[in-house]
Amino acid sequence: MSIFQDNLERLQALASLDGISAEDLSLLSKPALVSKAELEVGGNKYPAWRILYSRDLGPGKGGIRFHPEVSEDEVQSLAFWMVLKNSLADIPYGGAKGGVKFDPKQADKTELEAISRAYARAFQPVLGQDKDVPAPDVYTNSQTMAWILDEYESLVGHHEPGMITGKPVELGGIKLRSDSTAQGGYFIAQEMVKEFLPGKEAKDIRVAVQGFGNAGLFMAEKLFADGFKIVATSDSRGGIFKEDGLDISALSAFKAEGNSVNDFNQGEAISNGQLLELDVDILVLAALENQITAVNADKIKAKHIIELANGPIDLAADKILDAAGKIIVPDILANSGGVIVSYFEWAQNRTGQILDEDYLKNLLEKKMRGNWDRMLSLYREKSNISLRQSAYILAVRRILAAKHWRGGQA
Ligand code: GLU
Repeated sequence: MSIFQDNLERLQALASLDGISAEDLSLLSKPALVSKAELEVGGNKYPAWRILYSRDLGPGKGGIRFHPEVSEDEVQSLAFWMVLKNSLADIPYGGAKGGVKFDPKQADKTELEAISRAYARAFQPVLGQDKDVPAPDVYTNSQTMAWILDEYESLVGHHEPGMITGKPVELGGIKLRSDSTAQGGYFIAQEMVKEFLPGKEAKDIRVAVQGFGNAGLFMAEKLFADGFKIVATSDSRGGIFKEDGLDISALSAFKAEGNSVNDFNQGEAISNGQLLELDVDILVLAALENQITAVNADKIKAKHIIELANGPIDLAADKILDAAGKIIVPDILANSGGVIVSYFEWAQNRTGQILDEDYLKNLLEKKMRGNWDRMLSLYREKSNISLRQSAYILAVRRILAAKHWRGGQA
C-alpha cells in the first residue's frame, strides 16, 4: 500500500472542500527533485534518498531518517508533509526529507559515522543553506548532524552551519531544539484540552503515549509535570499500563540507562497494539507512520488523538475515525515545533546573531498557539471539515499563492 497515494487523495479532497481547482492541486502532486544513492560503507550498500518536494516558499527543509524500513514512497510522503507543515507554520521553507535504509540499532558508532559522512558526500550537490536544509528525524540526532556538517564543509571548503539544523550547540545549534517537537506538541495539547475538554482538570485526564523516543518521552514528561495522568506508554519493544498513572520521571531515568519501557517495574506489560486501543481521554501517537489503519481504527476508544509522529493514521483509518467523531490534531500542526525551532537555528546561523533563549521560547509558543487558532477558526467556519482538512487548506492556500506570484506553469 502506498502512503503517497493516500496523500494525493487527501490533497484532491480539497477541491470540493475549499474550491481549489484540480489544476492547482495537480501542481502539488509530484516532487520537485528526487535524489537517490547507494551508500557503500564497509562492503555493504545502503539505499539512500533526499527528496526535495517543493521550493516555492524557500529552500527545502526536513529531517533525515535512519530506519530498516525506509522506502522511496515513505520519504516522498514525509517530504510532502514537510511542505504542508512548513507552509502552515508560516516559515520560509519548502519541504524535503531524507532517509537511509539500514538498522541503526545494529550499527556501532564507527558505522553510523561512516554512513552519515557517505550521505553528506552523496547528496552534497543538492544540499546547502539556500537549497535544502536537513535536520534530525527518526534514529538520527545532533551527532549525526555534526558528522554531516563536517563532511559537507570539508567538501565545499567553507563554513556553512546553516546547511543543517539540530546541530550540537558548539557547532551553531540551539539548546531549545532537543525537546522542541514535544514542547510545541505540549502547547497544542493544552489548546486542545481548553477547546475540546473544557473544565476538565489535568489530573482527571487519562493519557496514553505511543513512543518513548525524542518526541514521546519529552511530551510524556511535560504532561506528567503538568499533572496529567499518563496511564500507558511504549517504545518499539512494547509498553506498560498502570491504571492510576505511571511515574514518568522514574521511567525516563530507567530508559536513559538503556532499558526498554516494558522492563520497568511498574504496571503491567502491554503491546503497542493494545496501547492504541486503551480507553483513555487522549492518545498521543509519537512513534511511526501507519499505526492506526483500517485493521484497528474501529477499536480505538480515545476520543482525542494528537499526532506527534508523522503520518501515524492512514487515510482509511482517518475516514473511520472522522465518522466516529474523533478529534484528531494533525501531525503537520502538532509536531511542527521541531521545524519551527530549526528555523530559529537557521536564521541565527545566517545572521551570526545570538538570540535570547527566553525570547525564542516565547516565539515558539506564540507561533504554535497562533497556528492552532488559525486552524480552529477555519474548522469552525467551514463546520463540515476535520482539523486535518482545515490545516491542509491553510497550508495549500499559502503554497499556491507563492506559486502564482512566481508565475510560470501556475
Ligand atoms: N524531522 C522533523 C519533522 O519531521 C524536523 C524537521 C526539521 O527540523 O527540519 O518535522
